[in-house]
Amino acid sequence: MGLLEGKTALVFGVANERSIAWGITKAFHEQGATIGLSYAGEVLERRVRPLAANIGCTFVESCDVTEDSQIQAAAEKAAEAFGQVDILVHSIGFANRDELNGPYYNTSRAGFHLAMDISVYSFTALAKAFQPLFRPGSALLTLTYYGAEKVAPHYNVMGVAKAALEASVRYLAYDFGPEGVRVNAISAGPIRTLAAAGVSGFKLMYRRFSDFSPLHQNVTIEDVGNTAVYLCSDLSAKTTGQVVYVDSGYNIVGVPEALDEKE
Ligand code: NAD
Repeated sequence: MGLLEGKTALVFGVANERSIAWGITKAFHEQGATIGLSYAGEVLERRVRPLAANIGCTFVESCDVTEDSQIQAAAEKAAEAFGQVDILVHSIGFANRDELNGPYYNTSRAGFHLAMDISVYSFTALAKAFQPLFRPGSALLTLTYYGAEKVAPHYNVMGVAKAALEASVRYLAYDFGPEGVRVNAISAGPIRTLAAAGVSGFKLMYRRFSDFSPLHQNVTIEDVGNTAVYLCSDLSAKTTGQVVYVDSGYNIVGVPEALDEKE
């Protein structure tokens, strides 16, 4: 029997087959969850629908998380289709490409607001809208990155947004705790996705990652999916408010070894 048998999971943030949200969706499906998918807008529909069909998922709804009305509509449709929800995954982030280059101090006011709105506030907004649908034992999950804690060149406003997102995880975990609902984040190592392509210098960072991380391996969407199963299943029943690293151990290294000194 699958670890998520009998559970319903709503996953926000599938853009294509490379999305972390898709890695999570596949892992949830393998573990027996009933899945609902939500994507950002019409442009993505032709990519997301065939993926949904692959796993027999019929709940596929558009939701632009900058619009409260669309979030509310998604919650109402989910209530209609499923009654209650056991798992909500927020795998959404966005900043304008020109904010992910050059010095952080060049961040515009509008660019700051947009990054915070889509990458941070939307998780809280989704948590609020879906709150009536969660039952005790439910789990919320979001995706973050090490640039929240330490400077990752060019990550800029997204690093600041991820720091706020990680703080949101702790506040939401505190609020939802009495209801028996858990809230956690996965901090993933660099993965080649649409969102990552917007970060200047990402390719080099991706290549160096396997040199410097203790496991010397890049992270895949399947790796993230497997940890997501743990964090959204009853196996992690007493774990909440945490940021769990799926990064081949990269975050524990203080001083990377000079590559030319290696055998
Ligand atoms: P992705 O581009 O596949 O996913 C990002 C998703 O955000 C897309 O589906 C996009 O449609 C959605 N989105 C953007 N604006 C939206 C809006 N207004 N309304 C609804 N959805 C919107 O890339 P990904 O790398 O899978 O990103 C998923 C999450 O993982 C993001 O939070 C990202 O910051 C995080 N993350 C990525 C990496 C990486 O290296 N790829 C590492 C750590 C964390």
